[in-house]
Amino acid sequence: MNHELPKLPYAYDALEPYIDATTMEIHHTKHHQAYIDKLNAALEKYPDLQGRPVEELLLNFDSLKVDDADRTAIRNHGGGHSNHSLFWKYIDPANQKDELLIKEINSVFGSLEEFKKQFSESATKLFGSGWTWLVRDTKDSKLVIKNFPMQDSPIMNNAYQVIFGLDVWEHAYYLKYQNKRADYITAWWNVLKLI
Ligand code: MN
Repeated sequence: MNHELPKLPYAYDALEPYIDATTMEIHHTKHHQAYIDKLNAALEKYPDLQGRPVEELLLNFDSLKVDDADRTAIRNHGGGHSNHSLFWKYIDPANQKDELLIKEINSVFGSLEEFKKQFSESATKLFGSGWTWLVRDTKDSKLVIKNFPMQDSPIMNNAYQVIFGLDVWEHAYYLKYQNKRADYITAWWNVLKLI
């Protein structure tokens, strides 16, 4: 059974003017699809892994019985598939404020403003391609802001649970924002309805 591109529950232009429709369409139908295609290719030799949700592959990443090259491909493309599937959900315009999460952020970071400032700084400083996430450390249940390089998934080997994340690869913003990543990050808070 092959992995398939999840349908977006909203239109490509639903996040205008903050994220433009063309970026959304290319990001979803080309970039996300490419991660899925390459993940499926990496799993071709392993029929027993093919029917398993991508999250299961990532949670048990170190114990997968696969070749080194395929392990790298699953890390990159399985991570890419999982990260993007989550990302589309976080920016769903139908999302409601999560009052419990807001309360916890306030208690950990002092205020929502201070949290957004720290998260934005982390995303701005991330070198090259990667993601900035708000995650819960599975060891102590604490909320932390953390950058991950490339498509590394926070859930790999069950290190973190994800709360939400921001894609700061250039493909996520370059058409509209070019080199101005900080402007994209500022705009992105408008499409995150959870907090
Ligand atoms: Mn992306």
